Amino acid sequence: MQITIIGAGVIGLTTAYYLRKEGHEVTIIDRGNGTNNCSFGNAGYISPSHFIPLASPGIVAQGLKWMLSSTSPFYIKPRLNSSLVKWGLKFYANANEKTVARNAPHLNNILQLSRNLMIDLDRELNHGFQLETKGCLMLYKNEKTGHHEAELAREAKKYGMEAPILNATEVQAMEPEVKVDVLGGVYFAVDCHLHPVRMMETLHKKVSDMGVKILYQHEVQDFEIKNQKVTDVITDKGRYLTDHLVVAAGSWLEIISKKLGINLLLQPGKGYSVTYGSRQKNLIHPAILVDDRVAMTPMGSELRVGGTMELCGINDDINMTRVKPIITAANNYFPDIHLDMPQVEKVWSGLRPCSPDGLPYIGNSPHHQNVTIAGGHAMVGISLAAGTGLLVKQMIQKEKTEIAVDAFRVER
Ligand SMILES: Cc1cc2nc3c(=O)[nH]c(=O)nc-3n(C[C@H](O)[C@H](O)[C@H](O)COP(=O)(O)OP(=O)(O)OC[C@H]3O[C@@H](n4cnc5c(N)ncnc54)[C@H](O)[C@@H]3O)c2cc1C
Repeated sequence: MQITIIGAGVIGLTTAYYLRKEGHEVTIIDRGNGTNNCSFGNAGYISPSHFIPLASPGIVAQGLKWMLSSTSPFYIKPRLNSSLVKWGLKFYANANEKTVARNAPHLNNILQLSRNLMIDLDRELNHGFQLETKGCLMLYKNEKTGHHEAELAREAKKYGMEAPILNATEVQAMEPEVKVDVLGGVYFAVDCHLHPVRMMETLHKKVSDMGVKILYQHEVQDFEIKNQKVTDVITDKGRYLTDHLVVAAGSWLEIISKKLGINLLLQPGKGYSVTYGSRQKNLIHPAILVDDRVAMTPMGSELRVGGTMELCGINDDINMTRVKPIITAANNYFPDIHLDMPQVEKVWSGLRPCSPDGLPYIGNSPHHQNVTIAGGHAMVGISLAAGTGLLVKQMIQKEKTEIAVDAFRVER
């Protein structure tokens, strides 16, 4: 088949890899230039530890409290936007124990599947992702946060994940190069991390070498549809015939889906990161500073620090008032790393494609015979990339899928 994929983010590239491996002719269309999208500046975690969906009990009350502070890790820009209102209501309806109990096992299944596939892929591509299986530390200063993390660690055990609870001395022993100032932590040994830029470059090179055609600076604007089949993808540079279409357009998924008559809800959740180069002393493990919702990732001698979730529509504006607390938190937890406050030019921003129930959309269009959706991975798009690519390939080839996929269906 001639398969067209919209989006050259991590989801588009891994999907192209699995499809091309089966011999399909694959073309990826992206309006960017292949050097930046959400898949480049993220924290690079492969995190089975994130098995609780974003919409979970307590998050709404916490979010409302955070909304009152200009330096908190969460913000919604108030605006009259029907998609945001519908998304918010759905998110609110999903943030309860019953829905989480229903969705968490599905999220866990795809996280575990994808972790193993990402490790295989990194190995196959000569360790090009710089993937490391060192686990991840969830660190906290606040006692209440510690109780919550201990609860999650107990829950994780049900899924076969070991997550020992550490006191401050035990955390310090795991990070001998830097001083750590915490009350305690939980160590998820199952988690991995990689270098997102190296991963994207390696995937790009691999699929190009395999014969995947990538059309950058082509914006998909519309489609020709005949008898419930998309026949042509219409871009600003011309039309492309296709036998099958995969939409992997990240935070633009809702807009493109609408053009196809597919109704799904999605909000871009902006996050920031800053990458510090050539550190003499660095963290050994990635660390999440749970009280402040900040992620720190050692990538060789580099250190990336990131965080915040701003629901403010599609834009790449950088709000330094919300960047500063990220760096301050890193310096507070690790008092001798002395990270400088960056100039605005050094700050990266990216848009997480967030569904209102915390599960991705992976499934065939209910309205077409030849369209598959792959997106809405929110905070776990790197973690779920390989699993998504494999599942999309299996759906297109009408094979039995590796795991049950009904929970990820598109119009749920
Ligand atoms: C600060 C931060 C930290 C994160 N940390 C992690 C982490 O540690 N682990 C993890 O698993 N995830 C993490 N994430 C989330 C992860 O980065 C995303 O889930 C993932 O990158 C989404 O990939 P994607 O391919 O769906 O979208 P993208 O990477 O955004 O790619 C979508 C592509 O679609 C293209 N496109 C859109 N519309 C069109 C159009 N009309 N025509 C042509 N092309 C189009 C865009 O140009 C873009 O290149 C983080 C995100 C942020 C912001």
